[in-house]
Amino acid sequence: MLLGWNIIKKKIENLRTFLSDVGISSDLRGWEYDRPPVKPARQLLLPVSELASRYCPAMRDIFLRRVLSIQPPKSFKMFRGMVYHLLISKILIEAKRIIYSSGLISGSDFYEKAIEKVQTLIDLTFDEALRRYGNISQEELEEVRRGSVKLSKYILIEAAYSINSALSRFPHINVDSMVSEAFPPVTELKVDGSLVGLSRELSVDIYSPVGAVVDIKTGEVREFHRYAAAGYALAIEAEKGIPIDLGVIIYVSTDLGDVPSFVHDVFIVDDELRREFLEIRDEAQLLVERGADPGKPAACPRYCPYYSYCNSDVG
Ligand code: SF4
Repeated sequence: MLLGWNIIKKKIENLRTFLSDVGISSDLRGWEYDRPPVKPARQLLLPVSELASRYCPAMRDIFLRRVLSIQPPKSFKMFRGMVYHLLISKILIEAKRIIYSSGLISGSDFYEKAIEKVQTLIDLTFDEALRRYGNISQEELEEVRRGSVKLSKYILIEAAYSINSALSRFPHINVDSMVSEAFPPVTELKVDGSLVGLSRELSVDIYSPVGAVVDIKTGEVREFHRYAAAGYALAIEAEKGIPIDLGVIIYVSTDLGDVPSFVHDVFIVDDELRREFLEIRDEAQLLVERGADPGKPAACPRYCPYYSYCNSDVG
């Protein structure tokens, strides 16, 4: 597995011992979508990412986006976040393709084959991201390119290590098992969240076989990012009937040194987190239905994506 998966696995094992003590109430599982509090009071479907990004305590961001159709100004951070998300997904798909087409090769042979493809994958990723975010300066572009190379190499080295570990533990492994041992089983899992009032085509960064959802972030650590895991857990439970007990947020940074660094936030998607997320969903649906500006909070955090809009003459 990747992006520091060994560390995540250790943290998950530690948390599992608490899981039976903490428990998760059955009425807060996603499959209870036809009963409150999981049942949405309104028909409106909202994306998990918008509900979970609680920069604005007044939810004015939701009013601006959903009622006035005003998107937040594009920023370098958004561009970088999109590039890294797309790139991680492309690299993992390519890595699986290499194993399926080459068979059981060693980690070093895998790395040699995969590194040849990296530049093409980065170019494709940039083309895709630039089509959506065209206003990035040359300097910023170069910074994200450097970060992308670091990130790609890191992922491939980690993948090569995972392949060697699997080969040495299971000398008779077949290709299919190798892929599931060495890589996350599903990236960009598509989930229909409509049963619990969420968008019809949610995309979960990584869905792991240990009953955990993984979300990848490229900015600063924020407590409210955990809401995304609650939203995805409820949606997966509702649509697929599988319990999701754990959430993982991987914060990726390429700002310092030659190697990317990661912060792993691993937690139980417990009752409190689920209740808070459902309250946010209900409040946001009501806000959009009423269509009235909730106004600004006492203070706007500078890192809010709408900061320049709300704190200008037009906002
Ligand atoms: S800038 Fe302030 S009012 Fe506007 S969305 Fe952000 S926190 Fe809310």
